[in-house]
Amino acid sequence: MKKINVPLKENPYQVLIGNGIFSGIAAEIKKRKLNKNILIITDSNVNGLYRNQAEAAFQKFDGRVDYLVLRPGENSKSPETLEKIYSYLLSKKYGRDTLIAALGGGVIGDISGFAASTFMRGTQFIQVPTTLLAACDSSIGGKTGINFKNTKNIIGTFYQPEFVLTDLGFLKTLPQEEVLCGVGEILKYAFLSDQKFYAFIRMNLEGLLSKETVVMETALLKSVKIKSEVVAGDEKEAGLRKILNLGHTFAHAYESVMDYKIKHGEAVIAGLACALILSRSMGLMDEKKYSELSRILSPFNPAIKFRSLDKNRLYMAMLKDKKNRNGKIKFVLLQDVGRILPDTEAEKKDVFQTLDEAGKFFTSQTGGMS
Ligand code: ADP
Ligand code: ZN
Repeated sequence: MKKINVPLKENPYQVLIGNGIFSGIAAEIKKRKLNKNILIITDSNVNGLYRNQAEAAFQKFDGRVDYLVLRPGENSKSPETLEKIYSYLLSKKYGRDTLIAALGGGVIGDISGFAASTFMRGTQFIQVPTTLLAACDSSIGGKTGINFKNTKNIIGTFYQPEFVLTDLGFLKTLPQEEVLCGVGEILKYAFLSDQKFYAFIRMNLEGLLSKETVVMETALLKSVKIKSEVVAGDEKEAGLRKILNLGHTFAHAYESVMDYKIKHGEAVIAGLACALILSRSMGLMDEKKYSELSRILSPFNPAIKFRSLDKNRLYMAMLKDKKNRNGKIKFVLLQDVGRILPDTEAEKKDVFQTLDEAGKFFTSQTGGMS
């Protein structure tokens, strides 16, 4: 088992990563002297696959363990589901000495974290991510939230878990399209990191997509490390943390204009291509560097779906992003791997041209893993 520290000033915690480590979760809870009244929140897919393992892991635990099984999917990140969680906790007489455990993907992590941060003004919380996306990205950093009136993550808190436990074994059952979601973020971390990790991901893309344990472990360890360092330097997203938004201004626009009928990972991959194209067309990156770096995205083909989208609508969606000020869109661009330029303003014409080129970029590639 590998341990990564998330060195926050007030609530430092560890991310535990390993194959088969879920069976040791009760010992980790005990070691940290956490609350013994546990509510495990999960979704019906994960429950179907892993309920037996969970019950076995807590068989000898000298505390109380209940399970609340939610419907899978983004629609569960709602006020109605939240009410269900609070009602369950109250009906079962859970008090301040509760430990909420999220067992699932990003949806379960986000809503459980929000419930934990608000129930009785905050109860203990742990994350057990079961998707690649949650393991490499959303379970780290303490962002919780729900959707409200068609706006994603508009209600939420920053709330850190007591620890995060990632068992690589869970990822074996992950459907391919969910793997791709995680790969989108891992590619983002490859650009944010250093030449060594970038090269590793480029060489091992096939292994990552086919869920080879060693490749996934290396990719997760580095992604989690980068995210932990960034979050530790900027817990509440005042500055540094913006770099984690690489590719996401475009990605969120694609998702919003397509009514979220596409996977986040695909949107992120297309968004990363846009970030590279815009960086080149603004003269921040030369042609040679651009063709070198864009090669990592060439096995994917997401932007075909995005080609016919109305550029004005995409632009309007970017303007609405909650991170913008004064009607100017700020992009996270890059000069090279690890040389990131957050807060870069771009001309409207450059953005439009980027959206055009992104469509061509993917259709001119010979790959097509998605
Ligand atoms: P994300 O982590 O991508 O934000 P979700 O929480 O919506 O996403 O999970 C994506 C889907 O994958 C859900 O339908 C969920 O039930 C399912 N899922 C989560 N973990 C696993 C797993 N280990 N094996 C198979 N399916 C899983
Ligand atoms: Zn993302």
